[in-house]
Amino acid sequence: MNLDDLMKALGVPKSAYADGPIPTRSPIDGRLLGQLRQASAADTAAAVERAQAAFLRWRDVPAPRRGKLVRLLGEELRRHKAELGWLVSLEVGKIAAEGEGEVQEMIDICDFAVGLSRQLHGLTIASERPGHRMMETWHPLGVVGVITAFNFPVAVWAWNAALALVCGNAVVWKPSEKAPLCALAVQSLFERACSAYGDAELAQLSQVVVGLADAGAALADHPRVALVSATGSTRMGRAIGPRVAQRFGRCLLELGGNNAVIVAPSADLDLATRAIVFAAVGTAGQRCTTARRLIVHESVYVELVGRLKRAYASVRVGDPLETGTLMGPLIDQAAYEGMQRALDQARSEGGSVHGGERVLADRHPEAWYVSPALVEMPAQTEGVRGETFAPILYVMHYADFDKALALHNDVPQGLSSAIFTTDLREAEAFLSARGSDCGIANVNIGTSGAEIGGAFGGEKETGGGRESGSDAWKAYMRRATNTINYSRELPLAQGIKFDL
Ligand code: NAD
Repeated sequence: MNLDDLMKALGVPKSAYADGPIPTRSPIDGRLLGQLRQASAADTAAAVERAQAAFLRWRDVPAPRRGKLVRLLGEELRRHKAELGWLVSLEVGKIAAEGEGEVQEMIDICDFAVGLSRQLHGLTIASERPGHRMMETWHPLGVVGVITAFNFPVAVWAWNAALALVCGNAVVWKPSEKAPLCALAVQSLFERACSAYGDAELAQLSQVVVGLADAGAALADHPRVALVSATGSTRMGRAIGPRVAQRFGRCLLELGGNNAVIVAPSADLDLATRAIVFAAVGTAGQRCTTARRLIVHESVYVELVGRLKRAYASVRVGDPLETGTLMGPLIDQAAYEGMQRALDQARSEGGSVHGGERVLADRHPEAWYVSPALVEMPAQTEGVRGETFAPILYVMHYADFDKALALHNDVPQGLSSAIFTTDLREAEAFLSARGSDCGIANVNIGTSGAEIGGAFGGEKETGGGRESGSDAWKAYMRRATNTINYSRELPLAQGIKFDL
């Protein structure tokens, strides 16, 4: 599909992506996709002010009616799933099924948020005072700043925006500088949803600030941005978190992961092999939930590693938009170099590396395709404990289950985790307080591919934030505790007497 036709179908005029000084390229073959302007800190501030003005109107709209706008957004996304999915593939190199899958996630969260728009309820609480009632009310926060990573260029906005909007907020989005076209397309679909709602002015509720880290920092510093929801590397979180805290703003951080899979002696190895390959190789190892560490019981180690090597050899690497491709390119040269550095470090730490070399360089000299790497490690070394955003799976073995759990948790990150076992005791121990210390802990499925119904996020250096399902919506609202006196007396709490 031709890019200009694609953008036209998505409602983005060429002038929006062809007139700026900064080039944006496709990781598929390095071709130029657009030339964009970068927002300055002043542009970001202006976007925040526009969003604030829109919020002042929006907060008075009843939540179920706010849900209607998100329903219409979901309908636009359904209508344009193929085009937007294609654009995701073009801009960040995901295979077509994953590009469309990402748009499906947006649709799913819109559906979820529509239902939620009738369920933003607080508690009624027993008061200790006669003739009194206590309750809590949830109110919108105001402007929510959303900073997103390149690897989920549209879904992460939707996880945040769908909830933020039904909760009554406006959103200012600083997309990854590696995926600005996706952001322009999503904004255009949002604008169409506003028109279908019958109020094109509502488009001001969503602002896109295409820019670099300094535009993100401007969001972090702006006193009107009540919540900064930032998805990206732990390095970015370390920079953003203190800035937002400094002004007592709220932060929702979704940072790096270093996700492990434990394979126990009783595991169904067919199931485990398929799940591990998808989790380690899917999106070319560039998911925050990618399986990066494998902790295998010594009794099944040789068998499982043999199966994985055979499966890895059959993974078709290539143009992500070609049928049959399972793994597309890395996002850029820096990602490739980071991968090679990690593999060199693994070798120097005693690891045995299978795969990981550059491929298709003759066909695509401007793109960075690799074969996925399987690295047998003698121990959980320093290199294994860091997140390298590439398809590297470090394999280690264990003899004692408690030691496997200790190894599992002995990394700075805490996003996703999985165990393959048919032993009920092991499965339950893994899910218990002494088991996985991650925000996501699975049994007999891989680490990636979360559903939107659950809360998504992780502990430790992953940042502690939760997005998407369950009660994650509470992060986008402020809670007011109300006490109502319907008596003619004025009893004080704790029995205090204060007679005038
Ligand atoms: P990145 O940290 O380089 O960039 C992410 C976003 O933050 C971009 O929009 C970038 O412009 C912005 N940014 C970077 N430094 C900033 C700063 N100092 N101040 C303000 N903004 C700043 O990450 P990336 O390479 O785009 O994405 C990969 C990383 O994201 C991986 O670590 C991955 O694990 C993580 N990630 C986490 C989740 C999650 O839900 N936990 C989801 C997706 C990606």
